[in-house]
Amino acid sequence: LPSFNLFAEIVFPVPLKQVFTYGVSPALEGSIQPGMRCSVSFGRRQTVGLVTGLSRVAPNVPNLKSINSLMDIQPCLTPDLLKLGQWMADYYYCSVGEALFAMMPSGYRKNPKAFLGLKAEAQREAVESLLAQAGALRGVKWDNLKAGTVPVTARIKPLMEALKKSGLLELKLGEPGEMKSREKQTHETKQGPALHPQQQAALSAIEGALKEGGFKTFLLQGVTGSGKTEIYLRAIALVLEAGKQAIVLIPEIALTPQTVERFTSRFGDRVAVLHSRLGAGERVRQWESMATGDASVVVGARSALFAPAKNLGLIVVDEEHESSYKQDESPRYNARDAAIKRAQLVGGIAVLGSATPSLESLHNAKAGKYGLLLMPDRVNQKPLPKMRLVDLKEEWKTRGADRPILSLPLEEAIRETLAKGEQTLLFLNRRGFSTVALCLQCGEQLQCPSCSVPVTFHKSGGTKNEQTLLCHYCNWQGPLPEKCPSCKGGPIRLVGLGTERIEDEIAKKFPEARVARMDLDTTRRMGSHESILKKIMKKEVDILIGTQMVAKGHDFPGVTLVGVVGADTGLALPDFRSSERVFQLLVQVAGRAGRADKEGIIYLQTFNPEHPSIKAASVYDFQAFGEQELALRKMLFYPPFSRLGLLVYRSKVEKNASQAAEQTARFLRAQKGSGVEIFGPAPAAIAKLRGQYRFQILMKSEKPGPIRQVLALLDSKIETPKGVLRVVDLDPQSLL
Ligand code: ADP
Ligand code: ZN
Repeated sequence: LPSFNLFAEIVFPVPLKQVFTYGVSPALEGSIQPGMRCSVSFGRRQTVGLVTGLSRVAPNVPNLKSINSLMDIQPCLTPDLLKLGQWMADYYYCSVGEALFAMMPSGYRKNPKAFLGLKAEAQREAVESLLAQAGALRGVKWDNLKAGTVPVTARIKPLMEALKKSGLLELKLGEPGEMKSREKQTHETKQGPALHPQQQAALSAIEGALKEGGFKTFLLQGVTGSGKTEIYLRAIALVLEAGKQAIVLIPEIALTPQTVERFTSRFGDRVAVLHSRLGAGERVRQWESMATGDASVVVGARSALFAPAKNLGLIVVDEEHESSYKQDESPRYNARDAAIKRAQLVGGIAVLGSATPSLESLHNAKAGKYGLLLMPDRVNQKPLPKMRLVDLKEEWKTRGADRPILSLPLEEAIRETLAKGEQTLLFLNRRGFSTVALCLQCGEQLQCPSCSVPVTFHKSGGTKNEQTLLCHYCNWQGPLPEKCPSCKGGPIRLVGLGTERIEDEIAKKFPEARVARMDLDTTRRMGSHESILKKIMKKEVDILIGTQMVAKGHDFPGVTLVGVVGADTGLALPDFRSSERVFQLLVQVAGRAGRADKEGIIYLQTFNPEHPSIKAASVYDFQAFGEQELALRKMLFYPPFSRLGLLVYRSKVEKNASQAAEQTARFLRAQKGSGVEIFGPAPAAIAKLRGQYRFQILMKSEKPGPIRQVLALLDSKIETPKGVLRVVDLDPQSLL
């Protein structure tokens, strides 16, 4: 048996909470470090693991296996990321391996495509002098190269070039394809406009904190168009001047070329970009550029938080209230909250920006945990565009059978806007033609065969753009039946509006208008999103119809009229955040009007003009909304006054899921004094999803700790039965 002097703790991208120990062979002792990937045998397979720690103390393990090879020459995760992974595992109740591997580009989970090797005739002296020249590559040693264990990654590029030139290079396992090294250009920061007083005050506060040093979180609450992005840019410039790096998180849906351009035009090629449309190779290259220092700023969606910046000074989270910062698979982290944790770990600054902050952040700011920076006015000195509420109940009363999609005031406003040659944006957060297909005889709604949700009718949503019934949860498609399949005879009536239906209506009412629709269906093809945006910018579109995709992040300078076709959409969802979401979405979509020099106006069509969220949104009264909603949350003991944990039990067999949930609920309730309130089990709002029945248990506690403790106790006593899947979601963003 081999004997070892050094032992490595290794984790894998699996839900197992165990940490595994492997022996480190003497040959690897000099190179191995925590944060490096390695190839080891795990179970019956050869697989990729991550070293989280090293120890001289021999573990008490029979048949200790050894590490076969290292896959990194330098740690691919920085020390603060390793700590953040531990925190995530703890906080979100997942395994350290799941948390850490979720930080890396997906390509990192596989064995690399190629390794650098040396030709047999390569002399040690010659190679070492090449290595000495490639300064950034101190980690690579003659031994590694000779053994052929140096994987080909972007970082290796200069060395690879040098070896190639000298004729000493031999690549093993095929040539890598997509490694282009970035051209170094300018390192100058372009000047921005002179700041307005509110901006100046906000920036000064951030600058003060940077000078002081140490961890601090700011909540930058500024109305749309108040120049928040300019504050991010200035703060980044300060951080770069100090020789540090910055991370900017933007919701995926708002991460358009237009947005990225605002950062690249200021900081040039020091900006790396990470989003889901990148190919795997390009993703790795962008990611690594933060480790090598080629890039100093990374702009990206949720997972860009984990960019391996070695010298991080600032993390910006734009639109911090967005629920898309929460990952909906394990590890179920919220990137906003993890960003604050990472800033704390590196002793840096976190800036959370929003026009409509989440109630959690508002609460923290009020409690003095975050510095609150307010920018209540627009940069262009224009008041926020006026919102007019249109009561659809009244419209329906007076117009009777001819139930309008567009109210008379909105229709009139569209006509005027067209006449002035300005642009209109019509917003409805439902795609498809009609949201429900209803039998007029038996009242059945046509449902998806595998989900307990009504199917949507699409005029052109099928795979070949044909008309189809579509399930928005599992993508099931089927033809629209002529007769109700349930009562075998009733006629089917399509009810409930979607964006396609509005497009139809506009074509009838305004046949001369040039119309574009932007939703998931029209933007599925690569580049179609951008091409619609371009048309709008070039004023080739008079009326833009869209879902939340148009509401967020875009700057449409030509839009002066916004029509919210159904302001109530989403209000009735059985989720304690539904009012908050409606408020945020309405304010956000209103922010699309009148961004340039012309004034804008918004029409909100609603059946609930008295609803507090809609009323507050219609006058941009975040204060009023925040206070009334916080009072309600406090009364109901919901976040931010409590922490939630959601357990979902799923199974193809309904009884298995419900029994497993019941057993758990009984156990949890029996833990008197745990400090955790237990609700349920109950069928989830979407009781069946993709053929699986779902039962939920909601846990509430004043602090997050007790929920994790009671879960750990549960796991030490009760195993989830076979055939049942359990999901644990801490700080859930959705209770559906
Ligand atoms: P927000 O992110 O708060 O919605 P933006 O940062 O997009 O606001 O700013 C709105 C517009 O105002 C942008 O076109 C931006 O370039 C411009 N802007 C921002 N700050 C200034 C300033 N101090 N002077 C002139 N224009 C500015
Ligand atoms: Zn379905």
